[in-house]
Amino acid sequence: MRVLLVEDEPEMAAALTVALKNYDMVVDHISTLADAEEAVFINDYGAILLDRQLPDGDGLTLIPKLRARGAGVPVIVLTARGELADRIAGLDTGADDYLGKPFAVEELLARLRAVLRRPADLPPETMRLGRLSFDLGNREASVAGQPLDLPRRELLVLEALLRRMGRTVTRSSLEEAVYSIDDEIQSNALDTHVSRLRRKLSEAEAEVEIHGIRGVGYLLKHSP
Ligand code: CA
Repeated sequence: MRVLLVEDEPEMAAALTVALKNYDMVVDHISTLADAEEAVFINDYGAILLDRQLPDGDGLTLIPKLRARGAGVPVIVLTARGELADRIAGLDTGADDYLGKPFAVEELLARLRAVLRRPADLPPETMRLGRLSFDLGNREASVAGQPLDLPRRELLVLEALLRRMGRTVTRSSLEEAVYSIDDEIQSNALDTHVSRLRRKLSEAEAEVEIHGIRGVGYLLKHSP
């Protein structure tokens, strides 16, 4: 899953980026409101972490613009303004949660899990295909109950394929799911992730198959 982090304090942003990557997420870090507005038009995010006091304005002004486009993406507002009136303003604007700085990274991750679990989110908590299951809350794939040990990018490829199981997922949307805007993408990297993943799924007898569609993308389907 890809997360947009809008935060202008470099240390805070670096710490959160590391924590989210360790949580097997792709993080786009942006420091200004203007760049955030552009990023949400270009990419699909699973969640947005939004600072309020940004160099070019109040982060809250992003939320009505998102909601006006019908984007139901969960937004957690992060801010030093932890006063009651500010929290109410944030929630009234359409934020899903509000976290006052300073906060523990563990608390942020717990709140992120909570907003991702809400019923408004279309994907279920666990996706299943064949003997394979993917727990979205714990960010863990397993085959018949045995955890699959996958590096972050293979896990992200698998998540993106499972979210659209049975349908072709284009190379560009897979790359979008796996790489942040700061990552350099090597031309064959995606195919390498897919072939490693394919081998691991086959060794674990997951009863799923990744089909390559030349020049277009990949498709995951049940293969008993
Ligand atoms: Ca700030």
